[in-house]
Amino acid sequence: MSDCVFCMIAEKKIKAEILAETEKVMVIKDINPQSPTHLLIIPKKHYRTLMDCEDNELLSELLQTARKMARELGLGDRGFRIVINTNEEGGQTVFHLHMHFMAGRPLLGRMG
Ligand code: AMP
Ligand code: ZN
Repeated sequence: MSDCVFCMIAEKKIKAEILAETEKVMVIKDINPQSPTHLLIIPKKHYRTLMDCEDNELLSELLQTARKMARELGLGDRGFRIVINTNEEGGQTVFHLHMHFMAGRPLLGRMG
């Protein structure tokens, strides 16, 4: 989608700090981090929300990517939080499916 910020990042039309990339998924640093480590795990293909993605293999890859990043960053034992905000009341602001990966401080309560 031409007016979607994450599509533009996937197509390298705008810059982002990309930490990992596969054929289907990319990991970038959140531009407005809410924790010392705040990554976004994003499918390259455009899905508006989690509700629009029936590709269970891809959804599984998002989780596997979270685990891989946790291992690589040495955060697996310390802990982290993954979140998929979905639609308006879920707090979604960018309507291209993405998973937040947050770590590096105690994340207390529902959203820390
Ligand atoms: P959400 O509220 O779940 O839709 O989260 C959207 C996230 O995308 C927010 O945490 C933003 O800080 C982040 N974000 C928006 N634009 C960019 C960008 N160009 N590069 C990296 N992160 C972004
Ligand atoms: Zn998109």
